[in-house]
Amino acid sequence: MTQPALDFVIAALAKIRETNDHFPRASRTVLAQLQVTLSAAVLQGETSASPMERRPQPATGKAELLEPIRERVCVCTKCAHLACSRTQTVFGVGNPDADLMFIGEAPGLDEDKQGEPFVGRAGQLLTKILKAMNFAREDVYIANVLKCRPDTAPGSFGNRAPTPTEMQTCRPYLVEQIEVIQPRVLVALGAVAVEGLLGMRGTMRELRGHWHAYNGIPLMITYHPAYLLRNQAPSEKRKVWEDMLLVLERLDRPITERQRSYFL
Ligand code: URA
Repeated sequence: MTQPALDFVIAALAKIRETNDHFPRASRTVLAQLQVTLSAAVLQGETSASPMERRPQPATGKAELLEPIRERVCVCTKCAHLACSRTQTVFGVGNPDADLMFIGEAPGLDEDKQGEPFVGRAGQLLTKILKAMNFAREDVYIANVLKCRPDTAPGSFGNRAPTPTEMQTCRPYLVEQIEVIQPRVLVALGAVAVEGLLGMRGTMRELRGHWHAYNGIPLMITYHPAYLLRNQAPSEKRKVWEDMLLVLERLDRPITERQRSYFL
């Protein structure tokens, strides 16, 4: 943001303050981003700050901006039942500067143990899909709608899906993560992730295979890797792969003939 744009934002905020009986509201993330912009402007000598105030400020990158969000997630008790049952929260993993961000539904047993999303069987399949796209896990960012594993009855087997209330409660953290990372493309894995992100229910048949948008960011919806583990038909794998080819095209990544004919 250049100085005139910053001045414009500040003047608009001042006007809201003057003409309303309440103070303007901004999320912590937006405030942190404004702070970064201001620091950058100061570094470039763009502001009207005095020479004393124009001392170089440490640059704040996306990784640093994610830290305070991670810290709040770490101690979150908004869903008391999940705060009690979890081993730890599962924030997100990967490159904070990633062009591509994947969104799943919630940590499972393995993720709860390891504190990292998508490390169980479904996660291993996601890692394989990434590899076929010529990405390493470290190249992209991976997060879930829920940061806690949905609790299960003692002695029961498997994971349960998050409830709409749990997703609504946890969603603001994901929104902040996306605000910081600002990926060029988002991929939502499965209908539950879509419901958590967009608050919209639909069948995968309707949702997948074409572009949607979240806050102006192109969003591809595809099957959750756990679905592919349950349904091993090559035709289903091919559908996911076709969605990933669309993602590669959108990111202007080169696609080889071998990649085009994958799973055919
Ligand atoms: N399934 C998800 O949706 N997220 C994970 O992190 C693991 C499995």
